[in-house]
Amino acid sequence: MNPLAKISAAILIAVPTVHAQTTVDGAAIADEVQGANWLSYGRTYSEQRYSPLKTITDETVKGLGLDWFLELPDQRSLISTPLVVDGMMYFTGSWAKLFAVDLRARKVVWTYDPKVLEIAGDRARIFWDSNRGAAYWKGRLFVATGDGRLIAVDAQTGQEVWSAQTTDPKLPLYINGAPRVFRDKVLIGNGGTEVGSARGYVTAYDTATGKQAWRFYVVPGDPAKGFEDEAQAMAAKTWTGEWWKHGGGGQTWNGLTYDPEFNRFYIGTGNGSPWNRKIRSPGGGDNLFLCAIVALDADTGKYVWHYQTTPGESWDYNSNMDIVLADLTIAGKPVKALMHAPKNGFFYVIDRSTGKLISAEKIGKVTWASHVDLKTGRPVEIPGARYEDGEAMVFPSAFGVHNWPPMSYNKDTGLVYIPTMEMAGWFSDKGMNPVTWHATNFQMDPGVRFTKGDELPIKIDASWLLAWDPVKQKKVWEVKLPGVWNPGTLTTAGNLVLQGRADGKFFVYNAKTGAALWSFNAGLGISSAPITYAVDGKQYVSLLVGWGGAGMSFAGTVTAQHGWAYREQPRRLLTFALESKSVLPASPPPRIPQPVVKEDFKVDPLLAQQGSDIYVRNCTLCHGGSAVSGGYAPDLRESQAPLFLEAFHEVVIKGSRQLQGMPQFKELTDKDLVALQHYIRRQAAKAAKAGALKVDAGK
Ligand code: CA
Repeated sequence: MNPLAKISAAILIAVPTVHAQTTVDGAAIADEVQGANWLSYGRTYSEQRYSPLKTITDETVKGLGLDWFLELPDQRSLISTPLVVDGMMYFTGSWAKLFAVDLRARKVVWTYDPKVLEIAGDRARIFWDSNRGAAYWKGRLFVATGDGRLIAVDAQTGQEVWSAQTTDPKLPLYINGAPRVFRDKVLIGNGGTEVGSARGYVTAYDTATGKQAWRFYVVPGDPAKGFEDEAQAMAAKTWTGEWWKHGGGGQTWNGLTYDPEFNRFYIGTGNGSPWNRKIRSPGGGDNLFLCAIVALDADTGKYVWHYQTTPGESWDYNSNMDIVLADLTIAGKPVKALMHAPKNGFFYVIDRSTGKLISAEKIGKVTWASHVDLKTGRPVEIPGARYEDGEAMVFPSAFGVHNWPPMSYNKDTGLVYIPTMEMAGWFSDKGMNPVTWHATNFQMDPGVRFTKGDELPIKIDASWLLAWDPVKQKKVWEVKLPGVWNPGTLTTAGNLVLQGRADGKFFVYNAKTGAALWSFNAGLGISSAPITYAVDGKQYVSLLVGWGGAGMSFAGTVTAQHGWAYREQPRRLLTFALESKSVLPASPPPRIPQPVVKEDFKVDPLLAQQGSDIYVRNCTLCHGGSAVSGGYAPDLRESQAPLFLEAFHEVVIKGSRQLQGMPQFKELTDKDLVALQHYIRRQAAKAAKAGALKVDAGK
């Protein structure tokens, strides 16, 4: 064919437009300079969530408006960070359903449903529907499911390419995290520490075939069976008793960062299984590698270094929060740093070439330790915090000062933008026998009580967006936020910080000063971090709106105050641009569930107490602490089903609503249901007596 013929052929097929195709590989994901695509959970390997795009700035943002939106009627929790590749968006929704959206046509091109509820069956009781995202590598998407599968999906067609079971389905393990991709491999961990005897690990799989490449265990197994590697033998020296019978813990459900400069993974590790060290490791010990960052060689999965944030943890202070890489200048010297704000309330700056701690300071209210000794690298604990005498109230709670909602780092301002919380944690093992205690798989029991009766002992709950200088280890500004459970942040070269809020408002702030510049009412609590990208050279901001995550499950009244009653408001994907003026249809207003009071139901206090124990183990995760729903599942105090034993039996024991998300509990008896009935009616009467909670309208 002559060159002219080639040109005319090109003209003939010029519709539809052929756009540049990005090969999404290691070089593309490491590229901090391009801003059009958002290729990984934290945008790039650094997990900074910093975009170089700057059409939307502190000057122009006042012209930001809703450009278009997508209704997502079958969705519940939306907590994920979408990916954008060449004008296509990919995101995960409830139960790991994958959506592919053409950003030019503004419509869903395909969806992939891994059928999690069908496959998980009654195992779905240990995980909520949340999924934090997918990974993209060379034309394939990777998504992990609550029932423990890692699945490769063709990005063009939405067809499954391979599926690998990463967990033993008999064990109470689940996945809600986003996989990470590197050098033709995909890495995934799992969660499950609070619902049985669990042992944490991460596994790398071949992206082409799904074949396992390597696995690293976070805690040592039974020494009699031999250790998997030298790191396990080293870790075993920091454990006492027969920890392996309890699993040990260290689940890796979030906080996986690949470092292309050192070809390493930094793994943020989980808390103990169980939380209570008196049970887990009765002679004490640091219990490596719980609550730590472990650096692994990315090709082999072999141990390189570790830094433990909470030695001998006893409070669920895991280190599963995001790990952000940055080049910092500290005391005049360039440092290849990593930054980490785990649950325990300290902000850590670590030299990632060696694992050496540079600095650590408190970013919120912390009463379990006075400070971190920089010579030893260890926290200095405050006597009593470890509930040595049976009980203690400490800050933070098991929710942490910072949880998984990701922070962002802006190299222009030099600041990190962190969603933080202040909540009291109460821990008691009074009357428990550490020798005879054992976990019941698929039930919530961390080996220590964390509620006092039905409520936390004091109601202290507050939250902020904190701008933190990691070099000076100092607060620069903060903004008070509604409730406690607020989502992750995005920062941009336009001197902006963007964050949704628990009260459904989406805010943009000046990154240097914290001044609020713009806001939008999304009509439902927001639990996802926003992203920004460009299509055909134009900058957009997108945000998933769908209240979700653990904070709303456990925190009861703290999250119920927003009025996001179960599934009452629509779930959506919102996209914003400058000069756009689309209008979002109004959502049903916030509503606080109204408990049904049955005057003729006489609550038996003993039965109600038995019901409370059954509730904490089986129901809290979804229906909320103290039977107050934060919006994830129906509020049982206003639900009709528990009022009538036959209906209650159908739903709970027979599992009639399993495919709608209510797992079957076939091991519960009708006697248990009667106890639950008394507990729920007691909670309903209590709420009615106290007067209905009012919706907090926020600012
Ligand atoms: Ca935990």
